[in-house]
Amino acid sequence: MYKILILPGDGIGPEVMGEVRRVIHWFTEKRGFSCVLEDDLVGGVSYDKHGVPVTDAAMAKALASDAVLFGAVGGPQWAKVSFDKRPEAALLRLRKDLELFANLRPALCFKPLVKASSLKPELVEGLDIMIVRELTGGVYFGEPRGIETLPDGTRRGVNTQVYATEEIRRVARVAFDLAGKRRGKVTSAEKSNVMESGLLWREEVQWVHDHEYPSIALDHMLADNCAMQLVRAPKQFDVIVTDNLFGDMLSDEAAMLTGSLGMLPSASLGAADKSGRAKAMYEPIHGSAPDIAGKGVANPIASILSFAMALRYSFNRGADADLLEQAVEKVLTDGIRTGDIMEPGATKVGTAGMGDAILQALTALSGK
Ligand code: NAD
Repeated sequence: MYKILILPGDGIGPEVMGEVRRVIHWFTEKRGFSCVLEDDLVGGVSYDKHGVPVTDAAMAKALASDAVLFGAVGGPQWAKVSFDKRPEAALLRLRKDLELFANLRPALCFKPLVKASSLKPELVEGLDIMIVRELTGGVYFGEPRGIETLPDGTRRGVNTQVYATEEIRRVARVAFDLAGKRRGKVTSAEKSNVMESGLLWREEVQWVHDHEYPSIALDHMLADNCAMQLVRAPKQFDVIVTDNLFGDMLSDEAAMLTGSLGMLPSASLGAADKSGRAKAMYEPIHGSAPDIAGKGVANPIASILSFAMALRYSFNRGADADLLEQAVEKVLTDGIRTGDIMEPGATKVGTAGMGDAILQALTALSGK
């Protein structure tokens, strides 16, 4: 019996997570997926009620769960709140306290949406890349950091890129494990030509490969070249592993190869404990979309595909994850679209309509 914590958050978060709940319910009823669902507030709604974007009680529930399903946080009404209490600060605390050091972002091009990419169809058709970004180290966290005023009155901003052996090795292992279940190839991206931390990154990834995963193919690529190759010939990649800063950019770039923000899931994983279970959080890439919140038009697919990742990575139910992804593909093939992915001749639906269509496709595909 798995424990799932749902944190819908702000804006369209509760709307899209409502559809995820229906999908979870379907898997419970039809496929024997057994779980206990809990709920809590996160983000601006938590700040309004409790004065903090995530409470200690919600954190305790997150720590006790097998997976956290996160909607989205933020909105203009909290723009003046101090940085440490902003809705987005909840995400940083969750990642830090759950020690989620590996961020997985698939860039998967669904055939019916091939025209939504800014690249030529032949470059993206069938595209299936996984970007693994180190999430808790590097320049976003390194010390010293800050802005100082110099004696002549001008200022200097400092951030420090720093990585230690184990931080690199553990995220490299995540990438090699994933590649072993996919097409068996890892590309590691860094700037070893100009950064010592990049050279260490390259050497440590190579060490993990040579000692633990010799049968997986490993390439090293400079991060700037990787950015270029992603738009030149993206299908050459299987799994890309990279640091926090380069991963931030490369994962956004790769994600947009496939079209709309409303389609893109993600997973953040921690280290496995002795029983093999790892802490994990699953969330769409998009934010709270205040411009469309409350209208019932948000695309729930990114959140639903995030649950598919949870089925695969937290609940060891790969066949169910495949089924859910096939259901999404079927709905798209049938020409059903929310506004963000609408095309001429397709049938436009709202958030609940997309949820209905995916449930129907699940039933049709599974024969239940
Ligand atoms: P956003 O992702 O919320 O929206 C960008 C654009 O994409 C908007 O036009 C929106 O309507 C559209 N969009 C996003 N998701 C969609 C969906 N599921 N269906 C249809 N259309 C969708 O980014 P933003 O506007 O830059 O940020 C809004 C708020 O969200 C800010 O407060 C920001 O800090 C926050 N944010 C939160 C997260 C998170 O919770 N992980 C991530 C990014 C931004």
